Amino acid sequence: MNSIESLVRPNIRALCPYSTARDEYQGSLGIFLDANESPYPTGWNRYPDPRQKALKEQLSRIKGVPAECIFLGNGSDEAIDLMFRIFCTPGVDNAIAIAPSYGMYAVAADINDVPMRSVPLGPDFSLPAEALLAAADAHSKLLFLCSPNNPSGNAFPAAELEALIRRFPGIVVLDEAYADFSAEGTLRGRLSEFPNLVIFQTLSKAYGLAGLRLGMAFASPYIIRLMSMVKYPYNINQSTQELAARALREPVDGRIAEIVAQRRRLAAALPAFRCVRRVFPSDANFLLVQVDDADTLYAHLLADGIIVRNRSRVPQCAGCLRITVGLPSENDKLLQSMSAYEKGDIHR
Ligand code: PMP
Repeated sequence: MNSIESLVRPNIRALCPYSTARDEYQGSLGIFLDANESPYPTGWNRYPDPRQKALKEQLSRIKGVPAECIFLGNGSDEAIDLMFRIFCTPGVDNAIAIAPSYGMYAVAADINDVPMRSVPLGPDFSLPAEALLAAADAHSKLLFLCSPNNPSGNAFPAAELEALIRRFPGIVVLDEAYADFSAEGTLRGRLSEFPNLVIFQTLSKAYGLAGLRLGMAFASPYIIRLMSMVKYPYNINQSTQELAARALREPVDGRIAEIVAQRRRLAAALPAFRCVRRVFPSDANFLLVQVDDADTLYAHLLADGIIVRNRSRVPQCAGCLRITVGLPSENDKLLQSMSAYEKGDIHR
């Protein structure tokens, strides 16, 4: 057994996965009397490809990762849940995560009855590498990292991530949902150097397809095979596969550049407001902004029809609102609403 295999739950290692009718079918034409579908062409009468072959090949070309190293899920949230189901035996194993970070890691841990050890980020939201390693014991199967991190917005230096991945004795999940907005880039092209690394990316952010629900995981062929065995057989529906394939033909670089330019614009404009104490540096498509009275500003913006995320009760984020970078016209409205707030023209 190799070291990665030894991290897998024994019941998953021994799993005989469900084999779908379409798994067995390899040709391109035929009369489909194998899956008890309706023969009437409603547009969706056939089950979708359980392996999402065409979409994975397209993504393989775009992302520069072999198709056998790609898993597609119903958003990144499906991949997060699968990590627990594949690697953590409830009542025995535990997971570790940086905090604050994306809330679903801890929720998925709770759902799977796996204790989550939260390790606070260091000063200025830095990577607490030594504390993360110190939190691990022989039952720590997963380490969740997020870079750029939500909600802090900062990307961790690649060299620090690499060193941590090499030293952590379990699986490292590196959530790169916001990497397209970051100059720090991605470790996606270096998967073969890190057998214990699983990288998450998503079409929900830079690609503008949050409504389709399509998350990607990149890992070794062995880990991807495990994820494919444990997922629901038809986890990506036909429409999502087709619509994503179509959308992926459109370039997104221009939109990413515009979001980054608007992020810079907001990061430069916001400190001029008296209520703004600090705008944290961001490598993502949002800004974490510390203000004097987060609840009152939040309510004011809401009354103006602008919803931001109130993170002021999150540890290390006291007084903070997380503001997504919008269209230039939406960002104009945000700044206008903040001006009105400062002039005392406030909604309560
Ligand atoms: N990862 C991070 C770090 C996120 O912030 C989010 C959404 N807020 C997600 C994943 C969710 O991605 P998806 O839409 O693919 O489920």
